Amino acid sequence: MPAQTGPSIALQGVSKSFGAIRALDSVSLEIAAGSFVALVGQSGSGKSTLLKAINRLIEPDSGAVAIDGADVRAGPAHLVRRHIGYVFQSIGLFPHMTVAENIAIGLRIAGERDTAGRVVELLALVDLPGDVATRMPDQLSGGQRQRVGVARALATQPGCLLMDEPFGALDPVTRDELGRAVRALHDRLRLTTLMVTHDMAEALLIADRVLVMQGGRIVADATPAALARGEGGAEAQALIAVPMRQADALEALKV
Ligand code: ADP
Ligand code: MG
Repeated sequence: MPAQTGPSIALQGVSKSFGAIRALDSVSLEIAAGSFVALVGQSGSGKSTLLKAINRLIEPDSGAVAIDGADVRAGPAHLVRRHIGYVFQSIGLFPHMTVAENIAIGLRIAGERDTAGRVVELLALVDLPGDVATRMPDQLSGGQRQRVGVARALATQPGCLLMDEPFGALDPVTRDELGRAVRALHDRLRLTTLMVTHDMAEALLIADRVLVMQGGRIVADATPAALARGEGGAEAQALIAVPMRQADALEALKV
């Protein structure tokens, strides 16, 4: 596993439209090397499009994306993706392939043939037992499947991890557990992580920095502490009000 810190990510005036819909509206953003950033916002606000602009699953209409200062358009897209782990929104495992085959797919594309040892390492990394390797995805729990998704994303030892609502379909306990596991992995591997979530409480508890998107723009950008103090602006406060009220209500039960 790499000892050095993951790369910085920079977006400069990135725009992307789908017909009349402006999914990204001149987004400029700098993500520091080694930081864990959460991207929060309502459905349709442009979160997935922003992630895909970074690993070139979509090409922006204008603007530029740089990883450690190098424009992602400089080389072939598949090489960019090898250095950027990507955990898909919803399931994203190939149902007709074993867990081992799913995890190894990026390695195989990169030309590695002997992947068995690496699969064992990757399963251990995400706290799954080795015997899971021979199972099919539908023989795993939702939480286990998402751990496999994370293992697959980390297979080529990327410095950067993009996650699109990775815990969306999970129950709250599994979600909490996986959130902590991913944060621990981020710290241990010194990754640069950008995680999309629609859950503000999750963002506040896991990330170093929270971005709020609305209508293709970043409308708030603050640390969890600043947001909790009410310093993030109106859009952020609208999202934060519910978890804060719930936290207060739970605290009040104790007295
Ligand atoms: P989010 O991930 O925040 O829910 P998306 O980035 O997926 O939002 O989408 C932003 C907007 O762009 C939405 O209005 C969505 O319908 C639209 N959009 C995204 N991808 C496409 C596409 N491939 N074709 C047409 N419209 C799209
Ligand atoms: Mg999305």
